Formats: sequence, C-alpha cells, structure tokens
Amino acid sequence: MIIVMKPQAPRKDISEVVSLIESKGLTAHLSEGREVTIIGVVGDKNKLCNVNIQLMSSVDKIVPVTESYKLASKKFHPEPTSVIVGNTVIGPGTLTIMAGPCAVESEEQLLTIAREVKKAGAQFVRGGAYKPRTSPYSFQGLEEEGLKYMAAAKQETGLNTICEVVSREAIEAAVKYVDMIQIGARNMQNFQLLKEAGHSGKPVLLKRGLAATIDEWLNAAEYIISEGNPNVVLCERGIRTFETATRNTLDLSAVPVIKAKSHLPIIVDPSHATGVWDYVAPLAKAGVACGADGLMIEVHNDPEHALSDGPQSLTFKHFDELMQDMKAYIKLAGRTLQ
Ligand code: PEP
Ligand code: MN
Repeated sequence: MIIVMKPQAPRKDISEVVSLIESKGLTAHLSEGREVTIIGVVGDKNKLCNVNIQLMSSVDKIVPVTESYKLASKKFHPEPTSVIVGNTVIGPGTLTIMAGPCAVESEEQLLTIAREVKKAGAQFVRGGAYKPRTSPYSFQGLEEEGLKYMAAAKQETGLNTICEVVSREAIEAAVKYVDMIQIGARNMQNFQLLKEAGHSGKPVLLKRGLAATIDEWLNAAEYIISEGNPNVVLCERGIRTFETATRNTLDLSAVPVIKAKSHLPIIVDPSHATGVWDYVAPLAKAGVACGADGLMIEVHNDPEHALSDGPQSLTFKHFDELMQDMKAYIKLAGRTLQ
C-alpha cells in the first residue's frame, strides 16, 4: 500500500503517519518529491486494518498496490530515477553506452578494447571477470586479476567500468575495482546474491532472467532496493522462446512496459539477445527508438578467437559504424549521448 500525502504536508504530519506504520511493526519508505511526499508501506498491511489512515491530517489518498514490489514501482516513485555513475547519468534524456568484451582475457586485450570503445563514444567499458558459463569446461574468467585490468582500463581511459558478480566473494572483490556491478540473467533470482548487491554500495545492473516475467524481474529489483540500494538499472537481454534462429528473443516490449510500471532506468543488450553480431545493429537502433536509457554491446578486438561470445561480438569497425549510424536515432529519441 502507498500513502500519498497532500502537497506541502507539514513534517509533523508525515512523521505521525510514519510512527503509526512503524508502531504496527511495518516499514515506511519515504519518497520526498518537490511537492508531494509518498510513503510506501512494506509488510503485512492487515496490521493496519483497525486504523483509518485516510482520515489522518495531510493524507491525500491511499493507493493499494496489487504488485508485490513497491520500491521499484512507479506508484511509489512517480518520477523516473536517474542512476549516476561517475560523471554518467543513466536515465531520462540521456543515452548510455556500455561496450566491451564478454570476458576479460588479458590486460592488453581489455586496454585495446577500452581505448577503441571510448573513441567510438561509449561511457562504460564492460568485461566479465567471473563468467557463468553453460559448460564447466568453458573459460570461467580471470576473477580478481581481471578486475585489476578493469581498474587499469579506467585509469587509462577514464571510462566507467562494469563487471558481473556471481557470489558474495565476487562482490567483495568487485567493489574494490569497478564502478558498477552486474547481476546476470542466470542469477536474477539468486535472492541471497541480490541482497548482497543491496549492501554493496555500488550501482547495480540487473539483467532479466532467461525465463523471467516482468513481475519477477521487478521483484528481483525490489530485493536490492529494499536492502538500501536504490541505484538499480534494469537490462533487457532477451528471453527464451521457441525460436531458435537467434540465441534468445529480444523482448522490446519490456521497455515501454517497464517505463509504465517502474521508475528505474532500463537498457537493452542486443548482443546476448541475438547471439549473432549481424543482428546487433538493427536491434540496438530499435532499443533506442522504443525508449531505452542505454545499450550494452559486446565488442572484441578479434571475435573469431574470443574466449567467450565471439559470434555475437562486434569488431571495432562495426561498433564504430553503429555508433555513427545511431546518432540520428539518438537525436530523434530526444536523448543526448554523454
Ligand atoms: C554478460 O553480460 O556477459 C552475460 C553473461 O549476460 P547474460 O547474463 O545476459 O547472459
Ligand atoms: Mn557475453
């Protein structure tokens, strides 16, 4: 349930509502806008059945929430959220590009790619140091050594860095070296990991699970926010369908649906969605056209010999061409590349 206070409600009235909620063993989450304060009530709302909050001073209305997530809901936080990482603002009006290899393979490889994606206009270099691979025999990542290379790439290029984490140990290491952590599709419902990400102090990119509904995805975001970390960005990366011509099916409808249901920024990953480099550019443009706040794109110096996801990785030339082609789409969408 969400309590909307009247415009300019005095602090005393807001505190009274919060105290009442807390006295019933529930948690009150305040969202203070310029005009209006909104109070999200988390917990069993039946505990409030004997009190008439509607009649309390300065309470405007009570909005029942049917969804089980609240902090991720637009009803609780009507204004779109911007997540700030370094000098990059991920959210309305801007377009953020995260680009780089699937896996960090060596310092030289990462630095070469970071330089090129920066030149082409990216704000983030991405790279996996912990790779959740389908086969246990596939390259599993360089772990902390890979994170050190991420830090070196930031040092040299000034790009923000993002890396996937798969465990509490990985989070503990990643927070020392990178600007943003990523929870991958396979871990979207690893609730313990989501809680740890909520305590990490770093902004989190939360990818959609391979077969997760939007409701499940927003509940996963709720786990992170409810642990005290509001800096969550969602990433649509394709879902599993009957279609086998592409690795997954990019659910672009998730972008407007998320915008309708949540205040969180959402970016699109056409690389993991398609699994084929040639299909990445058209879907990147489509992502921008339908309102995404950014894109995550895999780029490799030598896709043919990449240790992970070579077939879907763009060469430097193709990435640069895409960034050039996208300028018109970015402008048309009313966004600015930072
Ligand atoms: C990745 O970004 O490298 C990755 C493994 O993505 P996903 O979790 O979407 O499969
Ligand atoms: Mn990958």
